[in-house]
Amino acid sequence: MNKKSATKKATSELDSVEPCLETRKGNLRSDATTRACPRGAMFNGDCVASVKHRPTEASSVVAISDLGIDLVSIHGSTGTSPVVAPSDTGILPVLAGILPALRAAAQRASRPWRRRQKRWQGPGRKLQILRRSLQIAVLLLLILIPVLSLYDHLRNQRDEVGIQSRWDTRTVHSLVQDVEQPERFTQAVRGSVWTLKAGDFIISDPLAVVDFIAASRVLVDRFLITALIPVLLSLLLGRVFCGWLCPADLLFEAGSRIRSWAGIETDVRFSRRTKYALLALGLLAGLLLGTQFFAEIYPPRIISAEFYLWITFGVFGAGAWFFLLILAFEIFVSRRFWCRYVCPGGALYSLLGRWRVVRLKVQESSCTNCRLCDKACEFGLSPMQGKFGPECNNCGLCMRACPHASLSYRLSLPPRDGLDVVSENLKSA
Ligand code: SF4
Ligand code: SF4
Repeated sequence: MNKKSATKKATSELDSVEPCLETRKGNLRSDATTRACPRGAMFNGDCVASVKHRPTEASSVVAISDLGIDLVSIHGSTGTSPVVAPSDTGILPVLAGILPALRAAAQRASRPWRRRQKRWQGPGRKLQILRRSLQIAVLLLLILIPVLSLYDHLRNQRDEVGIQSRWDTRTVHSLVQDVEQPERFTQAVRGSVWTLKAGDFIISDPLAVVDFIAASRVLVDRFLITALIPVLLSLLLGRVFCGWLCPADLLFEAGSRIRSWAGIETDVRFSRRTKYALLALGLLAGLLLGTQFFAEIYPPRIISAEFYLWITFGVFGAGAWFFLLILAFEIFVSRRFWCRYVCPGGALYSLLGRWRVVRLKVQESSCTNCRLCDKACEFGLSPMQGKFGPECNNCGLCMRACPHASLSYRLSLPPRDGLDVVSENLKSA
């Protein structure tokens, strides 16, 4: 066999050797020799196949001294004549060593993604797409309303009074300058941080309404009516605002993802009753002091107000720092701390949705007690045992996690034993 064909054969043999399992796990065997590997692919404790050393034109294998691999000669799988390494220590050999390592890391990282993809095929898939779309749409609306309102206002100022503003030089201007009549949208959809006006409908957050009533001690019928739709929805669907519309929930769920990606297990638990106590105390404080206490700490309102500040004045207020603090606490200390234990809005929606008509049910015949639904629940409930309680926001994450489709939404009035479970939950909270 001539030199050229020997090189070709050695190359194809090395390429065909797969890295051994141990090397894939990253456990290089320091005492291994070529004889220790049944495939003959080990050299000086390193898996040659995983590094994919290729013989050069001079029938040699590159020395990768930068990576601490002192490769002087190699016995191929044929066990024939040793191949001598040249003194090449340039960038290519370094890359040759790094790329397989990067590939292995990417393979490792893609494993959970594949698992997620599998789970994503479950029956709750479409529901989760819908839920995410709604949450993102709400977030975008909170940005779009102040952007178009301000643009409309400044454009009128410029056209009527001739005042040039810094707005003209902003990026937002270039983004929205093609909107011909922003006032059409801004007249149709308006809002404050608590209220949304869409056409003739005005919808207010029920927490804003009770907070206002407590602070002003006045019952304004027209304001009360604006909370009617959210109240009815909560009576029917439970804490659905939290799971499907609240912009803070989207960001808190992102925090949960960061927790699981970073492998943070710490989860300090508090009493769920805290939020009910805070709701009562806040209303009492409003009644006595005449101030709207919740406005300062309610995350959906904070997000809305901070977007307005940022878009209008280019700055963030104290609320942004407060929100970031909560998020950091959730990531490092307590999973979904705010919504589970503190949020007065969550407390009010839980109370309203206590006897909701649409609720999840477990089908015991197909349930295998794998507890995957329990693990998926961000609020730490036990869907597997049917313990949803008033806290459940009908988000459907547990349903998506079930590989046997044992969870589904049902229309039902809460049965007697359902009420027992609710009170049991409240007791254990
Ligand atoms: S508990 Fe509060 S912050 Fe959490 S989702 Fe509900 S309203 Fe939003
Ligand atoms: S029990 Fe299921 S639907 Fe209810 S909050 Fe937990 S994951 Fe969401």
